[in-house]
Amino acid sequence: MSMLEGAKKQLEAAYKYADINSETWEKLQYPDKIVQVSLPMRHDDGTMKVYKAYRCQHNNVRGPYKGGVRFHPSVGREHVESLAFWMTFKNAVVDVPFGGAKGGISVDAQVLSNREIERLSKGYIDVLSDNIGPDVDIPAPDMYTNERVMSFMFNEYKKIHGGHPLGVVTGKPVAIGGIEGRSSATGYGGFYSMNFLLDKFGYKLKLPSKKRLKIAVQGFGQVGYWFAERLQREGYNVVALSNIHGAVYNEKGLNPTAARLHLDENDHKVWGQGTNITNEELLELDVDIIVPAAIENVITEENAKNVKAKIILELANGPTTFEADQILNEKGVLVVPDILANSGGVTVSYFEWLQNRTAIRKNYDDVQKELRAMMERATEEVMRRHLEYGTSPRTAAYILALERLGAADAVYGNKDYFSIR
Ligand code: NAD
Repeated sequence: MSMLEGAKKQLEAAYKYADINSETWEKLQYPDKIVQVSLPMRHDDGTMKVYKAYRCQHNNVRGPYKGGVRFHPSVGREHVESLAFWMTFKNAVVDVPFGGAKGGISVDAQVLSNREIERLSKGYIDVLSDNIGPDVDIPAPDMYTNERVMSFMFNEYKKIHGGHPLGVVTGKPVAIGGIEGRSSATGYGGFYSMNFLLDKFGYKLKLPSKKRLKIAVQGFGQVGYWFAERLQREGYNVVALSNIHGAVYNEKGLNPTAARLHLDENDHKVWGQGTNITNEELLELDVDIIVPAAIENVITEENAKNVKAKIILELANGPTTFEADQILNEKGVLVVPDILANSGGVTVSYFEWLQNRTAIRKNYDDVQKELRAMMERATEEVMRRHLEYGTSPRTAAYILALERLGAADAVYGNKDYFSIR
């Protein structure tokens, strides 16, 4: 089953519980628009290569389209469609006034120079500038894009459209209208959700006390690093970490900040603490919580049966395949779904967009306070439906999102409305 088919199957499981109009349901099955463009880019050595770039706008019934831009070889039409689909539901779960979108370029950004990244980022905006805008569609960072890429994109959009439309992208540097705490937002948001869940519902899972929990984190980029750093500061025991080159395990605990310094000094290949293991082994460790924070489809039909953790906190988008999800549910593993667990990033992007449009700044403490409150509220609402309907938290999150999307779509007039004379 493809990633998109799996995503739609996840949604289908929620249909019978959500009182949603059949027309709204039908609309949610398809993206509003997918743009595919060819992006010629001249490399530093003088050669030219044409890259494929995409933007998918899935649904905007609750607000302007919103979603990240990814620079990765796996980016393709169906790939961005799945990611945009998830954004529609994520934004509804955490209740930010946005629809869902996603975009990207099929490229290995790791082998490009800073100048090449600049040309590619600006080229992306050149070809897509008529499709985005502060009230239309608002890109943000995702895998292998960062605040510098966002400033290139903002600068190019500004050159084309004039004025100073700061709200066109989020995840910008603070110096040009970004918000304090955006880089750590997805990781910290995941932490707030997990911490709340353990406080309120942990007793049901018969877990050891918080500080004795063993936690393994896959992926050590913007999301994985900040999540692990926060865990350590709060006294949790991070026993495994990983990046694309491999993983490290130490039962006694790892220091993520020291690990990052060591990686930076060693071409991102040497961790310097504990035993080296593979990314696959990390997922099967005898730990309490596994946190996939790298790429999609890492927990599959093949390895789901070997998962020993009681909780999976999905900070990556789509890390668990549809088939694996069934196996984990049967085993009683509590999977905190991506559309809830990683919604902290878009939540702080929403604060940034608000700041850009009102010219009223939020400080770091306000961001943390409001992020925590929104993550806890969304987690509570999902868990309430999980307990009420007896579904997985993933289905419960889709039920919540469908309720909100259904309510928004209904006020534009649906079949029921037009049948009244
Ligand atoms: P990033 O590019 O900053 O980091 C990615 C990390 O994953 C790196 O440590 C990289 O080495 C590792 N990695 C890449 N391929 C891997 C592989 N095959 N096996 C193991 N590790 C691998 O990206 P990020 O922003 O941290 O995003 C990570 C995930 O979180 C993605 O699924 C992304 O869509 C999702 N996400 C990100 C945000 C955000 O705010 N950045 C928000 C919501 C969801």
